[in-house]
Amino acid sequence: MIPLDEAQAYVRGCCPAPVATAVALREALGLVLAEPVLATEAVPPFANTAMDGFAVRAVDTVGAPVRMAVVGTLAAGDAPDRPVGPGEAIRIMTGAPMPPGADAVVMVELTSVSGSAADEQVDVEVEVPVGNHVREAGEDLEPGQVVFPAGTAIGPGQVSVLASINLGVVPAFRRPRVGVISTGDELVADGSALGIGQVRDSNRPGLLALVEESGFDGVDLGLVRDEEDAIEQVLLAGVESCDALLTTGGVSMGDFDYVKVVLDRIGDMRWMQVAIRPAKPLAFGTVAGVPVFGLPGNPVASMVSFELFARPALRAMGGHAETERPRVRAVADGGMPRGPDGKVHFARVVVDYRDGGYRVSSAGGQGSHQLAAMAGADGLAVLPDGDGVADGDVVEVLLLY
Ligand code: AMP
Ligand code: MG
Repeated sequence: MIPLDEAQAYVRGCCPAPVATAVALREALGLVLAEPVLATEAVPPFANTAMDGFAVRAVDTVGAPVRMAVVGTLAAGDAPDRPVGPGEAIRIMTGAPMPPGADAVVMVELTSVSGSAADEQVDVEVEVPVGNHVREAGEDLEPGQVVFPAGTAIGPGQVSVLASINLGVVPAFRRPRVGVISTGDELVADGSALGIGQVRDSNRPGLLALVEESGFDGVDLGLVRDEEDAIEQVLLAGVESCDALLTTGGVSMGDFDYVKVVLDRIGDMRWMQVAIRPAKPLAFGTVAGVPVFGLPGNPVASMVSFELFARPALRAMGGHAETERPRVRAVADGGMPRGPDGKVHFARVVVDYRDGGYRVSSAGGQGSHQLAAMAGADGLAVLPDGDGVADGDVVEVLLLY
């Protein structure tokens, strides 16, 4: 068996570098900037008001309360058609441009209006300083300024900023396209009744969901029988259209584990027994330069293997600097006993943040076929080789969210 970090480093070392491309802003969420982005426009583009109220000359409010003549109205989107002179005010709505002459805004709550539409006055209750409630042009971003350096992960905030500077096409690393294949003669995926010895193909939908939740493009390459030719065909077609492949099943020590056999023949593969539980077997390598993850067939193992090997490597291929799940220290509620076996165990746990700290408890049955606990888990507790942890002990946890 080899240590987890050695296996992870090997996998990372075989994965290709991120590929720069250009994507529509609408498609950019979750990608990483391949180049720095510079502002070509000022944000805000013009001085405008942050409040509904009256645009005035600050100097005219000295000695408030004071009465001023209302000489116009500006809504957001209006262009000012006259200046504000001494003793004058223009009614103004949030986002509307400051009229020439005015240098401050008095919020509407601190004013009262009197007179007729043709001869309207406003009483201003307070003195306001120059710049009061005014958002200056370029206060957020100046033209020419580096808005985001290369390597920035594009989240909702970045999408909004990029839209604010009119960047409709974004220089980003390509989102990895990840093909998923399940293998096994016992698997049923067409909804038909189960015969003796048959089980539902749960790994393929589960892995496609993990791929997509992680921000990659999932490509369903179907269910393949335990036949060398069929496995070879789907793998060769898969590497033509995808940036990485995930297979599940067929990599253990059984007589019909042909994925390993085929990958050995057509790829540059390494077959690893990793000192972890679940997910000990991993076949990993490249076929025509495309990384292929031969994940174990046991349902929980396939998901844990994805978390530990595929997700970090695929994130790196997408240009992410941060590839790991966050790790926290948590108090174990109820013990998590285990026996020494030379492996690090990843226990499926429910994570809570309570009274200023993390707490975890077992998410249920820990067998590598017991998917319910995987589904209920939002963390993997890292149990080093030994006897596990007792109630109240501190344990390290990988957060799965
Ligand atoms: P294998 O790695 O092919 O020896 O499979 C190990 C175990 O995982 C067996 O019990 C398989 O039936 C099960 N298994 C393999 N592939 C899948 C799958 N796609 N969905 C559900 N169970 C699977
Ligand atoms: Mg099998």
